[in-house]
Order: sequence, then structure tokens, then C-alpha cells
Amino acid sequence: MEHTTIEHVHCLIIGSGPAGYTAAIYAARANMKPVLYQGIQPGGQLTITTEVENYPGYPDGIQGPDMMVHFEKQAARMGADIRFGLASSVDFSRRPFRVWIDEEKELTADAVIIATGASAKWLGLESEQRLNGYGVSACAVCDGFFFRGKEVGIVGAGDTAAEEALYLSKLSPKVHMIVRRDQMRASKVMQDRVLNTPNIQVYWDSETEEVLGENKVEGVRIVNHKTGEKTVIPLNGFFIAIGHKPNSDIFKGFLEMDEAGYIKTVPGSSRTNIEGVFAAGDVQDKIYRQAVTAAGSGCMAALDAERWLGGQH
Ligand code: NDP
Repeated sequence: MEHTTIEHVHCLIIGSGPAGYTAAIYAARANMKPVLYQGIQPGGQLTITTEVENYPGYPDGIQGPDMMVHFEKQAARMGADIRFGLASSVDFSRRPFRVWIDEEKELTADAVIIATGASAKWLGLESEQRLNGYGVSACAVCDGFFFRGKEVGIVGAGDTAAEEALYLSKLSPKVHMIVRRDQMRASKVMQDRVLNTPNIQVYWDSETEEVLGENKVEGVRIVNHKTGEKTVIPLNGFFIAIGHKPNSDIFKGFLEMDEAGYIKTVPGSSRTNIEGVFAAGDVQDKIYRQAVTAAGSGCMAALDAERWLGGQH
């Protein structure tokens, strides 16, 4: 007869960005014996950025991937059990919670901290992926500074694109904003700010056909789909701000989410609608999305989980 051993974990952390590792540091120090599964991209979104200059404590800046190695080392030193593997499905309908890793290994857990993050959406152009990190970026707040004094472009028309265009307009002599319809989705106040900023030029009804450049971005070719007119815009940095997708698919049906799939937490806490399941970082934050805010919410999740576990018998 075949026996499958189901491992039991006291505190399971899913995800390995700043939120997951910070939760692991706090949970390990509180003797909660956390087990952390890293997911398919250990270290999360910071591993695809270059220099991070806005994380406090690094006066000279640090490369995103190096910073995540530091986070991981610190969590491991505190005693967190860090494993490679992807949580592929869950059953939160009863306790202990059940979680499957890589579609085969089954775990049960007393408490679960979800820190699966979000993924930037991309246009899907070959040139965009090839030049990612070489002038193409999905985060103006992270990378805009590297293009100060140079012309940049941004694609998107939501609040993020508007906010990032305004941010870039303070660094760059000219920001080319490419909008696919004849109107923006951003809130009225943000649109007004964009349209009243003299060094932001909006290209309406336009789509990006190609990011130009061999080893670094040198421009973009756009097409106006109403007139068919093509335009080449020389620029050095090209920012994609067409939204993010929270990595929350496997929790659908169990956890309350907003219409975009961000997990809802009780304000001022990391608690979800299921007692014993907590969420931290970008999977529950569509507004701030910074490493430091994610780390802060990971700390909250570990403290919330500790308090909740302490009340269970
Ligand atoms: P949104 O989904 O709101 O906007 C995405 C934008 O990208 C839309 O304008 C969309 O165009 C455009 N887009 C999508 N796909 C493509 C594509 N393939 N090519 C070109 N353009 C594309 O995402 P945001 O990240 O801007 O915002 C997410 C949420 O967070 C929103 O609810 C927003 O209000 C909120 N937010 C709030 C902030 C604040 O309050 N300070 C700051 C930032 C975000 P189209 O309009 O044609 O669909």
C-alpha cells in the first residue's frame, strides 16, 4: 500500500519578496518555526530591477537581487526553513489549512501568510523583453532616476501611468506618454495634472509597435491606429505602466478580493476574511507597492499570526 506523508507546518509563508522574508524573520524570532516556499521567482520583483536607492539603510544603494539575498540570509539565520517550490493550490475551507506544493507535496498548516506579490503586465513585444533592464522598466519610481536629464517614454493611462509620468517629468526634459485610446482611465485630478505639465507630451490613440535599440533603448516606434501614421520617438528610458496583476489566482473562491484580484485585508492589519490566513505585500496592496512598505506589512502579518496562534488551543 502506498503511503503519502503529509507534513504539518505551524506557520507557512508563501512567497519570497520583502514581505515574505520579513514575515519569516519575525516569525522565526517568535519561535513560530516558519516554513517559507519561495515560488518560481525567488526574491520576487526586486530580482528584475537594477539598483535600489530608496530602501533605508543602504546609503550607497544596492542591487535589487543582492538585497534579496540579504533578506533571505537574514531569515535563514533566524531559523526560517526556506524552500524552493511553488504553492500550486490550497484548501482553506477548514483547519488545519491544506496547501499543495508543485502540484504534488501536500502540507497542512495552522496559520498561513500569503506574500505572493504581483507581476507587472507587459506589452508582449520581443524588443521590450530583450531591452528589459537596459532602458525598459516597469517601475518609474525605481529606475526613473537613472534617466535624469534624458528623454523618456511611458505607456499606459491609468493612475499609475499618470503618477509615474509626473514623477518622470521632474527628472527628464521631456516625457512622451503613449495612450492607446482617446482618453485616459486615470482619475480626473491626475489627468489634469498630466495635461497641465508642459514637458509631458501625450500621444493619443497610439500603440507601441517596437522598442528600438540593440543593447540599450534608443527610441520607440508608435502607430496612431486612427490615422495609421507611424512615428519614431528618440528616447533613452521606456516605462511600462499598464497595470499589475496580483498573484492571487490559487486563493480564488476562499479569500475576498477586489475586482482586480488584490486580496482584501482588514484595514490596519494583515487579516483576511479567513481567520488564520494573513496577507502581506503587493498581493494586497495596489497603491504603494514599495519594497519598504511590503517589508513593513510582512512584519505586521507575522505579528498578527503570532497573536492569532497564541489564542488557539
Ligand atoms: P489600470 O488598470 O487602472 O490602468 C492600466 C492602464 O494601462 C489603462 O489606461 C489601460 O488602457 C492601459 N493599458 C493596458 N494594457 C495596455 C496595452 N497593452 N497597451 C497600452 N495600454 C494598455 O492600472 P494602474 O496600475 O494604473 O492602477 C491600478 C489601480 O490602482 C487603479 O484602481 C488605480 O486607480 C489605483 N491606483 C491608485 C493610485 C492612487 O490613488 N494614488 C496610484 C496608482 C494606482 P485602457 O484605459 O485603454 O484600458
